[in-house]
Amino acid sequence: MADCLFCRIVRREIPAQVVSEDDQCLAFRDIAPQAPTHILVIPKAHTASLEAVGDAAGVVGAMARMAQQVARAEGVAVTGYRTVINTGSDGGQTVGHLHLHLLGGRDLTWPPG
Ligand code: AMP
Repeated sequence: MADCLFCRIVRREIPAQVVSEDDQCLAFRDIAPQAPTHILVIPKAHTASLEAVGDAAGVVGAMARMAQQVARAEGVAVTGYRTVINTGSDGGQTVGHLHLHLLGGRDLTWPPG
């Protein structure tokens, strides 16, 4: 999608600290980290949100797999981490391209705000 922020990161039109990439997904560091490790995992193909994923839902499994691999590479898998997909305005979604937050490296409280 031409003017989508994360599509532009996929096309390398906007710089990002990429930590992992495969044919379906890209993982990069969040620009405003909320934990020592805060990485976003996105599908390369534009999907607006989890609500819009429809027949492309298989990509969510690919995102989870990449998050697991990145968590191990970042050294947070042993102590634990959190994965979050914000969906829609009440869900706190601010970027209209499906993304999974991988947060770790500190004790994360529950429930979230
Ligand atoms: P959400 O609120 O769930 O839609 O999350 C969007 C996330 O994208 C936020 O955590 C932002 O800090 C992050 N973000 C926005 N712009 C960029 C960027 N250019 N590079 C990396 N992360 C970004």
